Amino acid sequence: MSVAVEALFTSALGLQPPWLVDDVKLDTAKRRIDFEVACRGALLGCPQCGAAAQPVHDRLRRSWRHLDFFQFEAWLHADVPRVACAACGKTTQLSVPWARPGSGFTAAFEALALALCRELPVRQAAALLRCSDKQLWLRIEFYVEQARALEELSGVEIIGIDETSLRRGQDYITVVHDLDLKRLLFATEGRDHQTVLDFAADLKTHGGEPAELRHVCMDMSAAYAKGVALALANAAISYDRFHVVAMAIDAMDQVRRAEMRDEPAAVDAALGDSERKTIKGLMWAMRKNPAGWSAGQLDAMHWLQRSTLKSARAWRLKMALREVYARARAHNNAEHAASDLRNWLSWARRCRLEPFKKLATTIKERFGAVVRGMTDHRSNAFVEAMNGLLQQAKRAARGFRTSKNFIAIAYLRLARLKHLPAHPFAPALAK
Ligand SMILES: [Zn+2]
Repeated sequence: MSVAVEALFTSALGLQPPWLVDDVKLDTAKRRIDFEVACRGALLGCPQCGAAAQPVHDRLRRSWRHLDFFQFEAWLHADVPRVACAACGKTTQLSVPWARPGSGFTAAFEALALALCRELPVRQAAALLRCSDKQLWLRIEFYVEQARALEELSGVEIIGIDETSLRRGQDYITVVHDLDLKRLLFATEGRDHQTVLDFAADLKTHGGEPAELRHVCMDMSAAYAKGVALALANAAISYDRFHVVAMAIDAMDQVRRAEMRDEPAAVDAALGDSERKTIKGLMWAMRKNPAGWSAGQLDAMHWLQRSTLKSARAWRLKMALREVYARARAHNNAEHAASDLRNWLSWARRCRLEPFKKLATTIKERFGAVVRGMTDHRSNAFVEAMNGLLQQAKRAARGFRTSKNFIAIAYLRLARLKHLPAHPFAPALAK
């Protein structure tokens, strides 16, 4: 091609002497464009010690995948010089300005890949970019680790600690969120008290101070409570709505399952028909908000509510607890919330449903922390929103759902890391 074309691409790639585009080959049949980049000069500075004008020892052939050029897949190739330095005695390969050492992608291509992985499942991003999932996972891990090492986490005061599992009931991951700045602070395997100690240590290495944490919002796991007592001594614990209501739903499910199993005749009589569909509709409807009931579920719930089944009582108790939370959210008054909750507890203790009596005891033992969580709707809403985002992160790791990958993609998407490569298509003048 003409010299003007090579000069054009030299500037478009942002190359400075001694680097320049030497040749451009466009293959329309293969939909591919190849750029030959040259490093001019027989004498170059030593990358190791900086000594000027050292002889080139040899040149090693290397290639990099770059951002597509129109509909053409673009590749850079260069014979990269190794400098034999008389000053330090070492032979060192020059680093190229368009890629980090050892990567077969240019920095711009990697930045685009990261941007896509924040929005799409990694497998889809790989398909769009025509590369392998594995290549993307390696980049995500590399850049997340690099960005996290530079991350400053001072001034954190309110956190949420939560567990999530990669597979139903196994491979637990503990996640710690900053509830003020709405970002993921820390994620690690396991859900024992050590995870909280590890978080505190990690916070310290990033310039944070565990003693400054005032407030921890979490579920009722004894392990987290132990970790908080050991590592975050100044933090008051509160239990958020999401986890407390989830415990009530669980108690209700236990009552329903036991009743369906042990007293099928009473269930059939109350529901008017013993079709499995009704039972199944009931199972989901009882967990759902009434506003979301389907026609079938509405029908099943109609019969349930008019029955004297234990399941009906359990459902009313669950709904009443939700109501206690809804009222607390409206009046935002700790005293009212405490008195409402006391009323609910006295009903739950007298209800003759073992799982609810047990739940009442659990809540009573942690009464102050539960009430704190009732009026703190800011963290309540956030815990639920974060849960949704973590589910998305899990889907993003589909097919490669290891703890390591999930933690890396969670950081990439939810940690608001400030030191990730900028999106290559960011508007040039955005300031
Ligand atoms: Zn040298």
